[in-house]
Amino acid sequence: MTAIGIDLGTTYSCVAVLHHGKVEIIANDQGNRTTPSYVAFTDTERLIGDAAKNQVALNPCNTVFDAKRLIGRKYDDPQIEQDIKHWPFRVVNDGGNPKIQVDYKGKSMCFPPEEISSMILTKMKNTAEAYLDTEVKEAVITVPAYFNDSQRQATKDAGAIAGMNIRRIINEPTAAALAYGLDKELKGERNVLIFDLGGGTFDVSILKITEGSHFEVKSTAGDTHLGGEDFDNKLVDFFADEFQRKHKKDLRNNPKSLRRLRTAAERAKRTLSTSTQASIDVDALFEGIDFMSRISRARFEELNSEFFNSTLVQVENALNDAKFDKNAIHDVVLVGGSTRIPKIQSILQNFFNGKKMNLSVNPDEAVAYGAAVQAAILTGAGESKIQDLVLVDVIPLSLGVDVLGGLMSKIIERNTKIPCKKTTEYGTSRDNQITVHFNVFEGERVMANDNNHLGSFTVFNVPPAPRGAEKIEVCFNVNSDSILHVTAKLKSNGKRKHIKIKNDKGRLSQADIQRMLADAKRYKYEDDQERERVNAKNKLENYAYDVKHAIEKAANKMKELDISEIRSKCEETFRWLDDNDTAEPEDFQDELKELKDLCGPVITQINGGPNTKRGDARINIDEID
Ligand code: AMP
Repeated sequence: MTAIGIDLGTTYSCVAVLHHGKVEIIANDQGNRTTPSYVAFTDTERLIGDAAKNQVALNPCNTVFDAKRLIGRKYDDPQIEQDIKHWPFRVVNDGGNPKIQVDYKGKSMCFPPEEISSMILTKMKNTAEAYLDTEVKEAVITVPAYFNDSQRQATKDAGAIAGMNIRRIINEPTAAALAYGLDKELKGERNVLIFDLGGGTFDVSILKITEGSHFEVKSTAGDTHLGGEDFDNKLVDFFADEFQRKHKKDLRNNPKSLRRLRTAAERAKRTLSTSTQASIDVDALFEGIDFMSRISRARFEELNSEFFNSTLVQVENALNDAKFDKNAIHDVVLVGGSTRIPKIQSILQNFFNGKKMNLSVNPDEAVAYGAAVQAAILTGAGESKIQDLVLVDVIPLSLGVDVLGGLMSKIIERNTKIPCKKTTEYGTSRDNQITVHFNVFEGERVMANDNNHLGSFTVFNVPPAPRGAEKIEVCFNVNSDSILHVTAKLKSNGKRKHIKIKNDKGRLSQADIQRMLADAKRYKYEDDQERERVNAKNKLENYAYDVKHAIEKAANKMKELDISEIRSKCEETFRWLDDNDTAEPEDFQDELKELKDLCGPVITQINGGPNTKRGDARINIDEID
């Protein structure tokens, strides 16, 4: 059973597999080794990856990206509020959850972020299946180390909707460390800091790698909402302000202009990684006005200085949690497209007293590489070098329940090794209390409500007793995906209760997942149908053009050739194509057959029929098909 590794990125995704003893990064149908995490909806079809990104300027409101910024979050999350201002597509509030609203085949439809992510995962799965020539049902998906429980669960759900069994959710920097460690064949004990700054998320992890085969995460820190897109936003604001100053017009309310400016800004940002100046030039950006401007690297760095400097805070947090001095770090490995920014590299280098940063892993592919290795370990594939690898990861955030006064009582501290299990006892807080309600939270804040609410559970039928006399044992069990399961036991009667944390507001139900899984199959069927339809249409159109062109050419050489009927049939076909854009594949095939039947005898005549001098007018017409 082959299992693949998928790096489901904010802006790009990447898929890899261990094949014939080697990790292969799999190129998509366009030949690209990373695929844009984009899904587009049009009047006739759904596009995923490069095809979706390529048409974004034409269809900005129905082209969805950044699903990873939404996944597992609530609509009223302050960061989502900020993001919505920058997105050309609509995000609506569906009972506290964000949903993306698009027009698809003439209908308004809403998708939860899990479903959009599942479409990207399906594309990655199909890419792997085309390469391996077999169905793939098992995968390891990576998430930012700093993703919380809700975000991990939601990512797992996205995998299920894509029809895959997600064998493990692993942390992106840990996956990158695997790629680094395997590639380098490290000897002895190395303390490695992985600095992973991508399109939308930022992670720092510190690992101890022993003999290149034992990977132990010591600490992790980060910001699930910081990355290249924030730098793009700064540039977009900068240029939009300039446009307003120059032309007294605000382009921000026009999604198309905003999208085109964003594309140009991102390109400028990339240029600034190698040049000290970048210019942008967008024709008819807004109300027909062309926009040309330039920006220096220094200005770009100043605009983003707060973001750039904030990365060091997380590096320090990770060092403190690991109880490491910065001098104890042997290698600082840079991962993620945004680590190509020179200022990021120099800030880090200064922090580490001039140490050279390690740029040896491919920042776009290392995470998928590591995921494929983990997938191979879990399925028993690969040689002993792979099978002997040991990976010890940690939970990114403390887990606990709320207690009297709204305080957070931590049951498991952050950076505890996973899998892990811990039990704490809580007494009743009132006399004769017969039900006890717990809220489960995740985070580091003192007041429980300031942390992320994961769900709640209630213990019923507590025997009436004075306050504190009855005790409830709450057991938190975190599995290898860093996902929490809770059990509770009333001490006096010893009855254990497996508690499913109820989180009505956040998670998809099993029924939702099943429905979306069925929808995914239907969408794929519809996509395949549309592809077949477009192919049939193109075949007819190409044949009509080619045959008309070829026959005209032949008629110039063979005066006896009568092409009037074919010429008018071709013209009729072009008109028919214009009027029947949405015809069924069979209709296009019927038209093609009719045209071919009519052309057949003339083609035979040109290509050496019994009465024709061969060679005279011979053309490539027999290649037309
Ligand atoms: P990732 O999520 O790791 O694929 O990183 C994608 C992010 O890296 C996007 O925001 C890109 O704009 C950014 N990126 C890629 N190449 C460069 C570059 N040469 N300079 C600056 N940012 C880059």
